[in-house]
Amino acid sequence: MSRLKVRKIDDNVYVIREDWRDIDHRFYTKFTNLYLLVGEKKALLLDTSMGIHSIKELISPIIKNKELLVFNSHHHFDHVAGNKEFSLIYVHKFDLKLVSKERDISFLRGIKTKASEYYKKTNYKVLPAKEFYPVEDHEEFDLGKLKITIIHTPGHTKGSVSLISNKGHLFTADTVHEGAVFLPPKENLPEYLETLEKLQKITDTNTYNREIKLYPGHEKVVLPKTHISLLRKRIQENVMKEDLYNYKYDTFLEARIIFSEPFIFVVPVNKDESYSIN
Ligand SMILES: [Zn+2]
Repeated sequence: MSRLKVRKIDDNVYVIREDWRDIDHRFYTKFTNLYLLVGEKKALLLDTSMGIHSIKELISPIIKNKELLVFNSHHHFDHVAGNKEFSLIYVHKFDLKLVSKERDISFLRGIKTKASEYYKKTNYKVLPAKEFYPVEDHEEFDLGKLKITIIHTPGHTKGSVSLISNKGHLFTADTVHEGAVFLPPKENLPEYLETLEKLQKITDTNTYNREIKLYPGHEKVVLPKTHISLLRKRIQENVMKEDLYNYKYDTFLEARIIFSEPFIFVVPVNKDESYSIN
């Protein structure tokens, strides 16, 4: 039985949840949330999951013969491994290079899950999509009575994006969610905090005159917009101002782990590759 579930959560919006018991327990993560937005003319899929189940099959009864645009919120494996099912992927230009490469997830070797079984067959390689389209901050996509605007939200990765709809949905992906928040190395945190400030401004301005709700990339599916300022405050207090050596070091993630309910901050010790998580 597939543990990938699709559920309607608002007019035009569906969530597809992937259970991390099928992936890897070492990431402190319980669920990944992908979203399907259905306009009158086109549909948009945000992220493609681990690629162990067919997303295409799952969503085809919903989108029927509408054109489908497939987006990646950022380059991390848990959001892009299903790209291989699609010919064209929209992704921010700063994450494009990492998404377009074949990816090695051989860290799955050591455990026994659906994902590790599945990727044994490919020698733990994740194949990319064929083609990519680089998106930029402010770029708009009209799905037919449902408009989506790209917000460049660097921090989790350099090319992370959030998507906002004209109906008040803010898809924050891995920039704002509960549970394990994978932060960049400490020296790159100011960029993350600036992004949170940017998102806060957008939700406060509220151009569309609608109450804005957050639809995050992990864990709880709908969060109030106040979650952005809560996250910002906690990063400032519990990560920026603290000596990270005081916190537990996780040898698998090569990161310091900071528990700060409802968040678990994961701060990598090693540098870059745009804030890799494996
Ligand atoms: Zn993620």
